[in-house]
Amino acid sequence: MKSPSQTNAIDFDTAKLQRLGFAQQPPLLKRPASLAQVRQQLNQQLQTSLEPQRILETFFREIHRLVPLDALSYEHKACDLRLEFGLRGHHSVSYSLSHEGEHLGELLFRRNQRFSEQELGHLESLLSALLYPMRNALLYRAATQSALRDPLTDTGNRIAMDQTLQREIEMSRRHLQPLSLLMLDIDHFKQINDSHGHSAGDDVLRAVAASIKSQLRNVDMVFRFGGEEFLILLSNTGREAAALVGERLRLCAQNKDFLADGHLIDLTVSLGCSTLLPGESAESLLRRADSALYVAKREGRNRLTMAG
Ligand code: GH3
Ligand code: MG
Ligand code: MG
Repeated sequence: MKSPSQTNAIDFDTAKLQRLGFAQQPPLLKRPASLAQVRQQLNQQLQTSLEPQRILETFFREIHRLVPLDALSYEHKACDLRLEFGLRGHHSVSYSLSHEGEHLGELLFRRNQRFSEQELGHLESLLSALLYPMRNALLYRAATQSALRDPLTDTGNRIAMDQTLQREIEMSRRHLQPLSLLMLDIDHFKQINDSHGHSAGDDVLRAVAASIKSQLRNVDMVFRFGGEEFLILLSNTGREAAALVGERLRLCAQNKDFLADGHLIDLTVSLGCSTLLPGESAESLLRRADSALYVAKREGRNRLTMAG
């Protein structure tokens, strides 16, 4: 069965090619390509990338030859991944991708004309070419992301911090925007471990990290710097605004009871704050926040000190 939408698409493309002087197009450009041809092409091309963006872009481009589309969107909520290709269309059809019980995301195909039964059959058949490439790309993405995370507190690790700090310093210079840094250390954390055990200490670290993230706009800028020390990057934030954020974090820790191993634990934090100077290096910015934190500790803890 030939659907009206498919016929229209072929006529339009032939006319357009003739107008552009491509009446003698090579056989490869002829439409419609057969299902087997497109599938073979997809199987070859989808293997060449481990990036979800590239894989879906290729898929969108190739299936066009068989099922013309206006847009394709992809979403994987658990991976916090959302991608869009093309423009919007009135009609849509969605598919949930999964492989051996593993969810691989939701796909939404859109266009202005209705999809025929035959086209839906083609789409479903071609979707299978996406399974292994998407599964591999998602695994690869998870691996590269976990290499940048601290597994205990789900904050960025030192590698992520070094990369992000370097990038933020460059951005700050290019856009002439301020950049500040807060170094936060839990006061007398060793006593928590000593009194309640290491596992309760771990619970406290997780809770403190969650509490810091809940107070900030951009949770991607929180890093575990050491055992019980966190670093918070504040982009486009000058000295005064950074002091307000630091003070808010200090008060939040002071007023909150942290639950660990069934115990409510009272704790405080100390903070050092530095703001990027013209021409300053990442090392120097970190060193000044660390020195300010050292002063906060020496002067009695549960306080914020601004670097000079
Ligand atoms: P101060 O107020 O001067 O910061 O005192 P403090 O006790 O917090 O600091 P100190 O550096 O003396 O001790 C930090 C402790 O943090 C020592 C270490 O055993 C503990 N620690 C480091 N990493 C972890 C971790 O991942 N889990 C737990 N439970 N404890 C940790
Ligand atoms: Mg400490
Ligand atoms: Mg410390």
